[in-house]
Amino acid sequence: MYDVIIIGGGPAGLTAGLYNARARLNVLLLERLAPGGQVLTTDWVENYPGFPDGVSGFELMDRMKTQAERFGLKIQSDEVAGLELSADRKAVLTAAGSLETKAIVLCCGATWKKLEIEGEDQLMGKGVSFCATCDGPFYRNQEVAVIGGGDTALEEAIFLTRFVSKIHLVHRRDKLRATRVLQERAMSQEKIEFIWDSIPVKILGEKGVEAIELKNVKTQAVSRKSVQGVFVFIGTLPNTDMVKGLIRLDENGFVVTDDNMQTSVPGVFAAGDIRSKLFRQISTAVGEGAAASYAVEKYLESLAG
Ligand code: NAP
Repeated sequence: MYDVIIIGGGPAGLTAGLYNARARLNVLLLERLAPGGQVLTTDWVENYPGFPDGVSGFELMDRMKTQAERFGLKIQSDEVAGLELSADRKAVLTAAGSLETKAIVLCCGATWKKLEIEGEDQLMGKGVSFCATCDGPFYRNQEVAVIGGGDTALEEAIFLTRFVSKIHLVHRRDKLRATRVLQERAMSQEKIEFIWDSIPVKILGEKGVEAIELKNVKTQAVSRKSVQGVFVFIGTLPNTDMVKGLIRLDENGFVVTDDNMQTSVPGVFAAGDIRSKLFRQISTAVGEGAAASYAVEKYLESLAG
């Protein structure tokens, strides 16, 4: 019987794990892949405090993992198939069996949203990508399209300018959502050409991406751009399949919690990108992981009477 099982090893999970391990709880962190979460796909992080010159996403997460393990956090690679939540029993179901626990912290994060258009699935990994850090170097001196107008799209487009000859940045409105500093940086890049008020309708190609078809949402005009890569950064969907029907979710499927990260089920907490909130940052995930760990301790004390 664990005191607490943390599901997900991104910034929120590793922080909750660090704090709960330092509090000498019997804590296990489950992660289906390598700990680090989506930050691992970020080339360079420059708004996490304490790193005035920035830090690579990989290094930051490696440091968080090392720090948590130094205090005894046990990390296990396992895919969670489901949860059993009743008033007197909580269990996490994995391929390796059922793990009983007194409390659970959901830090499962979110997954990149897809465009859901023709050609996207067929050409996934053959020119359609959701990770510039992983795939950017394959597009040296080639033309690519980047879809989206948020922080991720601009940050990744700026990263891609190191490799590609030209980026067609396609945004569905005429105003970007991204933070000002990224807008200014992207606008000053000669390699980035903005295509406003447009959405992709089809990705074309046989063995690899050859072109993208775009529709102007104001004029309805359809045009075609020759590109060898399409990078999709249009936001994320929460990884909440395992808790659907068990805890309260908002209208977009994110987990609703109170200020102490408590979900609608006592003893089940949530932190990081999986939570219903406005601002998704590494720093907010870290803060919520710490808050969740404290709430877990208080909950365990209440069980002990
Ligand atoms: P986001 O902020 O939700 O932006 C998604 C972008 O994609 C928006 O511009 C949106 O257009 C567009 N979009 C959404 N659905 C679309 C569709 N079906 N077709 C075409 N375009 C579509 O997502 P994000 O950029 O991944 O960022 C997620 C969170 O992480 C944000 O809170 C962000 O601030 C944070 N983040 C922070 C940093 C950083 O601080 N350095 C870096 C990366 C991410 P509209 O604008 O019209 O809605």
